[in-house]
Amino acid sequence: MYSVEKIREDFPILKRKVNGYPLIYLDNAATSQKPQLVIDCIVDYYSNYNANIHRGVHTLSQEATDAYEIARKKIQKHFNIKNSHEVIFTSGTTHGINLVANGFSEILLKGDEILVSAMEHHSNIVPWQMLCERTGAILKVIPMNQEGVLVLSEYEAILSEKTKLVFVNHVSNALGTINPISEIIKKAQDKGAAVLIDGAQSCSHIKPDLQKLNVDFYVTSAHKMCGPTGVGMLYMNEKWGNILPPYQGGGEMIKEVTFKKTTYADLPHKFEAGTPNISGGIAFGSAIDYLNNIGFAEIEKYEMALLSYATNELLKIDDLTIYGTGPDKTSVVSFNIDGIHPYDIGTIVDKLGIAVRTGHHCTQPIMAFYKIPGTVRASFAFYNTKEEIDALVSAVKKAQMMLT
Ligand SMILES: *Cc1c(COP(=O)(O)O)cnc(C)c1O
Repeated sequence: MYSVEKIREDFPILKRKVNGYPLIYLDNAATSQKPQLVIDCIVDYYSNYNANIHRGVHTLSQEATDAYEIARKKIQKHFNIKNSHEVIFTSGTTHGINLVANGFSEILLKGDEILVSAMEHHSNIVPWQMLCERTGAILKVIPMNQEGVLVLSEYEAILSEKTKLVFVNHVSNALGTINPISEIIKKAQDKGAAVLIDGAQSCSHIKPDLQKLNVDFYVTSAHKMCGPTGVGMLYMNEKWGNILPPYQGGGEMIKEVTFKKTTYADLPHKFEAGTPNISGGIAFGSAIDYLNNIGFAEIEKYEMALLSYATNELLKIDDLTIYGTGPDKTSVVSFNIDGIHPYDIGTIVDKLGIAVRTGHHCTQPIMAFYKIPGTVRASFAFYNTKEEIDALVSAVKKAQMMLT
């Protein structure tokens, strides 16, 4: 049985007060909170077996290496990845995207085309623009409609033999839209293009099967799935792992170094220069265990109930508009009230202990599309409750009364 009360006890931060009120944390799309088990995992590493990995023969180094490599295997299993060397530890989604973009700077030619969706996070736009500037490749945009859903017929229309890469997020952080990535991947690969999926926003809600998706690259961050900041994973299909050049040079990523020539290590080490976030990687593994223990089917069912409750209750407020109204969504509600700046709503609800996000959510093109400066975004996790949504709704009503 799903018991949200029991789950909430795993998260020490949920016991604190903010401005005299119990914390109501509804900014999960920016980062999730951490269960005690993940926090303990980091403390345990630094207290008991802190050592550098893959280098020492001494006991601590071997223990740290084993724990880090076990975490890699947990990630491999969770995402159903064929080989553990296709799991590359990164510092997060942004790092993973830049690593791939950098690799393609040596592959793309002038006139090649890159497609991104209209609802990308800046971290999935800017690196490709930089890549286009360096290579002369052309960036094209897959448009979306008013509901915040990608227009697949337009996608097919701009897809061609010139398309070399397609980049789409699995779930939009600003709208909550779940994109039909399986279809997007198939259509791109039919034209011979590679696909990178940004899973930063999906992985706390959905368990993707990467072998089934047959995707080229998939990136995510641990901190949005109950793990620590500063660590993430890049899945890179073995074929690309052998083709792409390394991103950074340094220790760990070499086979042999002389001043004449250096040969690179095998996957995944080729892309893992320097000492990584060891405790972060290990804790990422325990966060994955934690989520799987609750179960993704249970999480999805519970969060969908929160989403529909929040959507219905918020829409009862006069002059409130929700952005992102497609049929497939995660538990994100982005909204505005006529005549009120989102920032002002965010400030007032914070006084009542409620954390929501306001602004453009690193997605300025979406805001430009709707001709708005930003939105208020409430994003729910499996540890949020209906009572917290009630508190949000009454706080938003209060803000509306004060501001109009
Ligand atoms: C959070 C997020 C990112 C960036 O992740 P970082 O952890 O900041 O690197 C990229 N894309 C989407 C959709 C996100 O939600």
